[in-house]
Amino acid sequence: MELRIQGLTKVYKGGVRALDDVSLTIPCGLYGLLGPNGAGKSTLMRTIATLQDPDSGSIRLGDLDVLRRKEEVRKTLGYLPQDFGVYPRVNAEDMLSHIALLKGIVKRKERKEAVHALLHRVNLWDHRRKLLTGFSGGMRQRFGIAQALIGSPELLIVDEPTAGLDPGERNRFYNLLAEIGENVIVILSTHIVQDVMELCSNMAIIHQGRVLFAGAPDRALEGIAGRIWQKSIQRDDVKEYTSRFPVISTKLSAGRPQIHVFADSSPEAGFVPVAPDLEDVFFASIAGLH
Ligand code: ADP
Repeated sequence: MELRIQGLTKVYKGGVRALDDVSLTIPCGLYGLLGPNGAGKSTLMRTIATLQDPDSGSIRLGDLDVLRRKEEVRKTLGYLPQDFGVYPRVNAEDMLSHIALLKGIVKRKERKEAVHALLHRVNLWDHRRKLLTGFSGGMRQRFGIAQALIGSPELLIVDEPTAGLDPGERNRFYNLLAEIGENVIVILSTHIVQDVMELCSNMAIIHQGRVLFAGAPDRALEGIAGRIWQKSIQRDDVKEYTSRFPVISTKLSAGRPQIHVFADSSPEAGFVPVAPDLEDVFFASIAGLH
């Protein structure tokens, strides 16, 4: 099973070109869609999830024409939107059961079994009687995954799922997604490079509606190997360096700014070559350097 997106374009009223001729082939496993805010990620996710139409282009899930056969796609789709946020004063088990009913699991016994299996799977069994309003951010996201998994989807779309999670919760959430990705297409949109680094065997970088890179993270790293130069500088010098060199990132290391410059050879004395990471790929791509 593969998801094939071809020539997808969407221009909103007012002229924003949110998707500009996007073509991607997404295999089974975890696929990272990486882009800064406003890149077009949510627009792409909502379009794949059949919630809005593009102006042109096509999407196929296996043999299924996603844009024409929406009802069929919805049966095999799980979606965790970015703002999955309205939590009634209902406990987790009752709410899941209600959603399962809406998704068509009408037989009581079958529904109960499905809900119990999901509560175990996302590690919320011990909290099943707690009100959703009292859930932590991580528990809410795991609940969001449980509701998205009702009906055993072949395609799971999760939009910016780790924003607001603490490191422990983020880790638990990563593990859950990695496990699901073993036999499902999981598309994960994020602006957090670490999410993609730790999880995804394939990825795309998207910026201003365009795909800047698509492929394996390793290949992205190879593409800029030998061209990232690092230097620790004084805080007051950041502006000067930024004006003289293509600085792609500035980070603090023990309180001192450490810049990364994109160049074919050492920009000047004091720079050392460093092995690129995905963050370098990301910033070099969106700066138009690579
Ligand atoms: P991302 O999820 O990467 O932050 P979005 O898909 O939400 O990006 O947005 C892409 C661009 O489209 C942004 O410039 C955003 O302001 C614009 N946009 C998103 N939704 C709408 C809409 N309903 N109407 C007009 N412009 C929109």
